[in-house]
Amino acid sequence: MRDGFAAGAARPLNRLPAKITSPISVKPAIILFGSPGSGKGTQAKSLRQHLKIPHISTGDMLRAHIEAGDHVGNQARALLKSGKLVPDDLVNELVEIRIAEPDCRSGIILDGYPRTVNQAAVLLKLLGRDGFQTVVVHLIVDCEIIVARLSGRRQCPVCGTLYSLSTHPPKVAGVCDLDGATLVTRDDDRESVIRERLDQYKMQTRPLLNHFRDAGVSIFEINGGSASPEEITGQICDSLIFSGFIARQESISGASVSK
Ligand SMILES: [Zn+2]
Repeated sequence: MRDGFAAGAARPLNRLPAKITSPISVKPAIILFGSPGSGKGTQAKSLRQHLKIPHISTGDMLRAHIEAGDHVGNQARALLKSGKLVPDDLVNELVEIRIAEPDCRSGIILDGYPRTVNQAAVLLKLLGRDGFQTVVVHLIVDCEIIVARLSGRRQCPVCGTLYSLSTHPPKVAGVCDLDGATLVTRDDDRESVIRERLDQYKMQTRPLLNHFRDAGVSIFEINGGSASPEEITGQICDSLIFSGFIARQESISGASVSK
């Protein structure tokens, strides 16, 4: 692939064919699906860097509104405080406003949304209206690998730093590198809680995937358990390129390099 680009760039007298230099015509909405611990947050960030399109996280958006203390934030804070979920309408509205912003014109990456069939139905309508091509990337990771990943997490109760016994252990076992506090296992990361969350995820996800399938949305299943995060990003990009949801990296860089 690199050779193809080099050969094109080495012909300064011939203009590149228009189809290579034209901007990407597809406007992908890449919806990342995966259980807790499947690495979808990591993949969302890495895809954002590769594809130069924004990563829209409803969790981050809600947190930003809560921090800003605006109308939406205060509503959300009150609900969460009383142990209720933020209603679909509110989240849908945040997403509708966000995807209409100019930086979403070349596409978006969604992670952690939609969570319900109702959210998915609203989202598909919005995405269709705004000219997005929707594709679902489902990161599949074996339950046992996820339990091992998440139950190996430790957190500092003082500064909040997260450690992983396998990939990012503290310098001294059980002690925070930054402040020397004794690390703890978060309630969320206890094995029984993890298994419960995984069961919940499965119950919640099946109807969503069926909804997308019925709506004719492409779904790519990627094995998220056996390769490095970089390799998994590569596999996702390959699938998206192959099926025309994103342009080849070569043509993107070819279009921007004008030496
Ligand atoms: Zn600490």
